[in-house]
Amino acid sequence: MPEPALGIIGGSGLYELEGLEEVRWVRVRTPFGDPSDAYCVGRFAGRRVVFLPRHGRGHRLMPSELNFRANIWGLKKLGAEWVVSVSAVGSMREELRPLDMVVPDQFFDATKRRVSTFFGAGIVGHVGMAEPICPDLAARLHDAAVAAGARVHRGGTYLCIEGPQFSSKAESRIYRSWGVDVIGMTNMPEVKLAREAELCYATLALVTDYDVWHETEAVVNVEAVIANLLKGVATAREVLRRLIPAVSHPRSCSCPSLLKDAVITARGAFPPRTRRALDLLIGKYFPAGGRDRARPRPRGPGRAGQDRRRRG
Ligand SMILES: [Zn+2]
Repeated sequence: MPEPALGIIGGSGLYELEGLEEVRWVRVRTPFGDPSDAYCVGRFAGRRVVFLPRHGRGHRLMPSELNFRANIWGLKKLGAEWVVSVSAVGSMREELRPLDMVVPDQFFDATKRRVSTFFGAGIVGHVGMAEPICPDLAARLHDAAVAAGARVHRGGTYLCIEGPQFSSKAESRIYRSWGVDVIGMTNMPEVKLAREAELCYATLALVTDYDVWHETEAVVNVEAVIANLLKGVATAREVLRRLIPAVSHPRSCSCPSLLKDAVITARGAFPPRTRRALDLLIGKYFPAGGRDRARPRPRGPGRAGQDRRRRG
């Protein structure tokens, strides 16, 4: 097992983390294809850090093109236990001003065409999403943002849309009537998958604009977003510098056992190939060598006979 690490997913504007020591860029192969880029693995303040630029270096991938499963899988494989998602957002409330930061505690998934689970292919799991954010990590992230001098808001609902277009005014008005606080394009299904991977997840949302609902502010456009993003990312780097030394192992939250009772499929019905593919996630609950369906039984005609009966 690799040493526990803090995973950081850098959103728009955050493609590298300066100041890490012993830096290596590591490519990870996953059962779900390729992550957005290689992972930058290094150390900071004595802690192991694994950083992934969500859109790839050079910002080559749009939100709908992200391989969220591969990204989270790679973090898990490299030993990440905590994941901080740094994400640019639009504000849906007057008091969340551009250049403010938000640590949301709820999400609303309005995406339309993304694969949002590691399960399937014969193994079914249902992970709770009532409280999707790790309260411990969110508290430390909030404290780090305060210490970095940011104007930061604790809690709130992040609405995730498919994009890549920004909202129409009608959409923005309707979203506001739903009571959401910020709008973005990337945290879903990222947070769902982080839960399935039993990772502590929290988002540092950087407010860049007022979406398009505001009567007096200019409507959102890429140029304005980027100008505010550069300032927000500079502050985010300060927040991360304070957060990294503040995470501590072992974790005392409930995140490390989220899958304990989540798998509903009977062990005897697991397709062996799927169990093997998901070993990184479910292996601790269903170790190899258990009674998977059609598991090869190398010795004895009697056992082979049992296998045939089970399949029939
Ligand atoms: Zn946690």
